[in-house]
Amino acid sequence: MTFVGGCLCGSVRFEIARRHLNAACCYCQMCRKAHGTAYSVHVMLRSDQLSWLEGRELLERYESSPGGFREFCRRCGTHVLVHGQSGDGSLAVPAGTLDGTPDLTIRLHMFTDERVVWAELDSTAPSYPGWPPGFGPSG
Ligand SMILES: [Zn+2]
Ligand SMILES: [Zn+2]
Repeated sequence: MTFVGGCLCGSVRFEIARRHLNAACCYCQMCRKAHGTAYSVHVMLRSDQLSWLEGRELLERYESSPGGFREFCRRCGTHVLVHGQSGDGSLAVPAGTLDGTPDLTIRLHMFTDERVVWAELDSTAPSYPGWPPGFGPSG
């Protein structure tokens, strides 16, 4: 199954090849600033599950932590990709960039220690004060 998405102005378009989308909510301060929201919802992917359809050359990157990059559309500023933060080479695509309203499952909440009081936690998925086991710079 494929899911398509892109930035606000439509210049950057991508496709995700997965049977089902799994996502993580991150409450860290960097995600809050980068997205301008209480927390980020990131679809978790392997690099071979994402392909660029249009506008790859319009992506600008910002190194928000050593070796960790956030990529955004140069024209409209939409944040479309996070990579290099997890030692296993996985990618994170902000769920809000997907077209339509595809079903996805929130698997976990991370960096809950940095959560702002106005962001409520959904208690049905496990929560971690920092990186969950298996994530993070050391993999
Ligand atoms: Zn754009
Ligand atoms: Zn974060």
